[in-house]
Amino acid sequence: MSQDQSFDVVIIGGGPGGYNAAIRAGQLGLKTAIVESRGVLGGTCLNVGCMPSKALLHASELFEAAQHEFKTIGIEVPAPTLNLVQMMKAKQDSVTALTKGIEFLMKKNKVTYFVGFGKIEGQGKVSVTAQDGSVQHLTTKNIVIATGSEPTPLPGVTVDQKQIVDSTGALSLPAVPKHLVVVGAGIIGLELGSVWRRLGAKVTVVEFLDRITPGMDTEVATGFQKILAKQGFAFKLGTKVTAAKTGTNGVTLSLEAAKGGNPETLEADVVLVAIGRRPFTQGLGLESVGITTDQRGFIPTNHFKTAAPGVWAIGDVITGPMLAHKAEEDAVAAIELIAGKAGHVDYDLVPSVVYTFPEVAWVGKTEDQLKAAGVQYKVGKFPFMANSRAKINHETDGFVKFLADARTDRVYGVHIMGPQAGEMIGEACVLMAFGGASEDLARICHPHPTRSEAVRQAAMGVEGWTMQA
Ligand SMILES: Cc1cc2nc3c(=O)[nH]c(=O)nc-3n(C[C@H](O)[C@H](O)[C@H](O)COP(=O)(O)OP(=O)(O)OC[C@H]3O[C@@H](n4cnc5c(N)ncnc54)[C@H](O)[C@@H]3O)c2cc1C
Repeated sequence: MSQDQSFDVVIIGGGPGGYNAAIRAGQLGLKTAIVESRGVLGGTCLNVGCMPSKALLHASELFEAAQHEFKTIGIEVPAPTLNLVQMMKAKQDSVTALTKGIEFLMKKNKVTYFVGFGKIEGQGKVSVTAQDGSVQHLTTKNIVIATGSEPTPLPGVTVDQKQIVDSTGALSLPAVPKHLVVVGAGIIGLELGSVWRRLGAKVTVVEFLDRITPGMDTEVATGFQKILAKQGFAFKLGTKVTAAKTGTNGVTLSLEAAKGGNPETLEADVVLVAIGRRPFTQGLGLESVGITTDQRGFIPTNHFKTAAPGVWAIGDVITGPMLAHKAEEDAVAAIELIAGKAGHVDYDLVPSVVYTFPEVAWVGKTEDQLKAAGVQYKVGKFPFMANSRAKINHETDGFVKFLADARTDRVYGVHIMGPQAGEMIGEACVLMAFGGASEDLARICHPHPTRSEAVRQAAMGVEGWTMQA
């Protein structure tokens, strides 16, 4: 059966890019449709990304605290045991509640939701093929591509979602592996590695580069790696995985030094391949409007406009940090441009967070970037060891680091490794969005006792008047 429908905007993809675009379009009075093939809204983030990983990080952190931390602070509980089935159910229940919430927001903003695979069929035309094969034809003034990304495969290593998994498989392992090998020391690998280490796995991280978390300030990354090693992570840096062989007893990985030579093998019960994500545009019909992707598969855009008139792209499918809040920023800006407003995103102010323990969060430039650019800068630092709230809570690992212009004091970057870093980075984003100086923050009253006082003390450090260390 087929039915014709016309819209101002048709959004393909129901992730943070797509659903936020739909909400903003609805708010601005545009007749809007969203097309999602997964059967539920929320995209990678809500279904197999941000949210389920944070549910497991939270639960596993409490499990580890109950095992080791409770006794120190005088809480005697019988040795806690893991009910993995219940932990996975709680995760899924939270995910379902969140995705239902997005469906509600579509209705609230008068957005028509089509369940099915969206294909561009020429300028202003989108077909939606449902699971049962039925097709609907939509016409529209604007198409917004928000089809997101998928895990990047590793040559020589085939994901079977049992012994060799990607992030999606690692969010639903049926049992705790004895030895989990994580290939890739990026954010996703370290977060999911943390989950399974806390639940009892030995975790080895194999990374091609000679450092972890590329993109993170090198000083912070070095400290972060030490903390993770203290927690039990083993690291094999500067090492590449060349092949994987599965058998009844597990997986044998073939490794080589990244610079060549030194072949060795590593045995694992489960291997998690987490080497990054790549844009997803399969079957989208880009050729029908003359759009070609770049070498890495991203859709080239100029202020979200693609090469085709009336076709826009946002989120993980275009260049920039592959993060949900970046997709959300893209979404709002693209829709505002469609509506004739002045949509804009400042990509220098997109924060990054690693939700391990401690968390690591940062915004703006790293010290490495400032050095490379020849910028004269000053540094202010403050350790959580000297922060009263962190000490009381026995959470003293980490520090805050401010980077500010040596002459004007304008803040270039803020880096926080410590408890709740992800929550605290927000004040740095606000400061930097207003073009603030370190002294602006240093002179703002912060509540006591909070970890955020460490942020203020680090800001004071730029001008050399840190008071509490
Ligand atoms: C394990 C993991 C943890 C993560 N944690 C975080 C985090 O803590 N914070 C953070 O900011 N980011 C995190 N991310 C990244 C985040 O999930 C992505 O950056 C974000 O989801 C990108 O949003 P998007 O809307 O561009 O794409 P997606 O969320 O990928 O959504 C795209 C949607 O489009 C649909 N689709 C694709 N093609 C079609 C088609 N032709 N027709 C219909 N539908 C289609 C897909 O089914 C999908 O649902 C994580 C990712 C992973 C994998």
